[in-house]
Amino acid sequence: MRKFIVAGNWKMNTTVPEGVQLAKDVVAKAAECLPANVELVVAPPFTHLFPVAEVLKGSKVHLSAQNCADHVKGAYTGEVAVDMLTSVGCEYTILGHSERRQYYGETDEKLVEKTKLALEAGLKVILCVGENLDEREAGKHFDVVTAQTKNVLYNFSAEDMAKVVIAYEPVWAIGTGKTATAEQAQEIHACIRSVVAEKFGAKVADDMTILYGGSCKPSNAKELFAQKDIDGGLIGGAALKAEDFLGIATSF
Ligand code: PEP
Repeated sequence: MRKFIVAGNWKMNTTVPEGVQLAKDVVAKAAECLPANVELVVAPPFTHLFPVAEVLKGSKVHLSAQNCADHVKGAYTGEVAVDMLTSVGCEYTILGHSERRQYYGETDEKLVEKTKLALEAGLKVILCVGENLDEREAGKHFDVVTAQTKNVLYNFSAEDMAKVVIAYEPVWAIGTGKTATAEQAQEIHACIRSVVAEKFGAKVADDMTILYGGSCKPSNAKELFAQKDIDGGLIGGAALKAEDFLGIATSF
């Protein structure tokens, strides 16, 4: 069965007290209005994971990291290992966000390593893919997204896919206020699902949750989520206000 997920990527926003308050607000709103068939996930910065995990205990909200190290442990200053994430209660990690690809040189090869470690540690992975503006204008969006998906996921098994969520995030739509139209998003989501089907079979592809990300907000979520291959959203800016975040989560 395919799961509907709305995940909030807080990026490098909020202090710890602000993040704890935001988590409390999200938990309270989720208790009021989260539909039973929607899974809600928050991905605060690393520094916030422990106190936010305390807030989420016993709630309907799941915890994610925004990234993980590509090594198990040791002399990697500034990095955070998968076991550290599970030890504070993370269930997910986002990997391959375009900001990590663009600013921190995250390659598909590195993402294979990180995905492998995350899955071995029992984390579920939200793998981000998406083309930039030049690639879209050159008509290469299907090729870019297909390659990013294959380069990482084709190294894993069909069983592993049950622990993977894909987030399609056109880079030109992230934090810009420009949303992909529902049709633009749907055609890429369908393409991603066919790439998954090609390697892992129709059942695995049909069960795969594929999220849309890029300036998603309460006012446009309904139309996006009505598309047959869009199973929720990875939300940036609008995840920083509990009301907007839950406004999106109640848009199915
Ligand atoms: C994101 O960075 O994952 C994202 C979708 O950001 P925003 O919603 O702000 O465009």
